[in-house]
Amino acid sequence: MLTLQSVSKNFGELVAVDDVSFEIESGELVTLVGPSGSGKSTVLNMIAGHLEPSAGSILLDGTDITRMSPQERPTSMVFQSWALFPHMTVRENIEFPIEANGRSVNGEIEDLLRQVRLDPTAYAEKSAEELSGGEKQRVALARAIAYDPDILLLDEPLASLDYVLQKQLRRELNDLNEELDMTFVYVTHSLESALIISDRIFVLDQSQLVQSGTPVEIYQEPKNRFIAEFMGDANVFPLDSSATDGDGFRLDTADDDPTPFADAGDGEPRHLIVRYDETAVAPTLERDVGIRGTVFNKLMKGNDTLVEVTGTETDEQYFAEMDYDDAEQIDNGDEVYVQWNRGDTVAVPE
Ligand code: ADP
Ligand code: MG
Repeated sequence: MLTLQSVSKNFGELVAVDDVSFEIESGELVTLVGPSGSGKSTVLNMIAGHLEPSAGSILLDGTDITRMSPQERPTSMVFQSWALFPHMTVRENIEFPIEANGRSVNGEIEDLLRQVRLDPTAYAEKSAEELSGGEKQRVALARAIAYDPDILLLDEPLASLDYVLQKQLRRELNDLNEELDMTFVYVTHSLESALIISDRIFVLDQSQLVQSGTPVEIYQEPKNRFIAEFMGDANVFPLDSSATDGDGFRLDTADDDPTPFADAGDGEPRHLIVRYDETAVAPTLERDVGIRGTVFNKLMKGNDTLVEVTGTETDEQYFAEMDYDDAEQIDNGDEVYVQWNRGDTVAVPE
């Protein structure tokens, strides 16, 4: 188990990582997700030993590794840029840095290449400069695995690849995590990657760990508005926390007919979050709660249509992801209700 205990990192005045604590079980695939500059790489570099924490400790199976050198740690890292030696072969690119570190490659190069889905006969003796971006990243992955680390650290390893390749490699990373019995700590700013790939997600924002949980937990029960908006397409409605009906607070829409909602949640909720795919638009109120608006646009999204509505009282824009057939009943300029069911919402504090 990898444990971070109240780990902070300052660069001069700047607090890059602020009092972060978490535990990662052996073999888990955990994703650190958050916007650019939120401290993800700094956390990863402290786990790898490339940066020393300003405060706090890092433990591996109970042993304090906070000040251990990167070479002494059972970790290895894959970066966004593959950093291969262009004039060396694939085999040399794997062997050289490991041997330069006084270690030897764990296993056969051929097996390592097969694990990263490269045919050894075709690739082992190929020069690195002849490889495509995806192939280079596979070699970088093979090299990281060749150290036989307990923990593989991946810092946006797919960010420079095209989307189709990202999807494919993401799936392969998942398979690899199951095959290898190795802990993966994966860093990305992509919500989609985090949701698909992870056993658990740690959300970082402004140097702090703001929420951790399974993808389903984070997606369905975001702790605040930032996470809700970061993790998926969601409408945000302001709440009037002084007006309750016993079950919950009222939407602060200044509508003639404000509608209460249930599930006040923890603390004092300020916003109601409703995902686009839980939101519907129709001329009449057919679900539990709705506010009035006017349709101003419809966008085809494959099987779904994104219906865009301007609130009559709020003047805000709301979105509903609807079945194509349902959306066909609605036209631009129609007076409608943006509506949802009470169970499909999350209330969050500021
Ligand atoms: P992320 O990986 O989430 O984009 P980083 O961990 O790279 O974020 O950076 C977190 C913050 O720390 C940023 O404000 C960044 O500018 C700053 N930072 C990162 N590394 C250094 C460094 N070596 N020196 C000074 N500031 C740094
Ligand atoms: Mg980074």
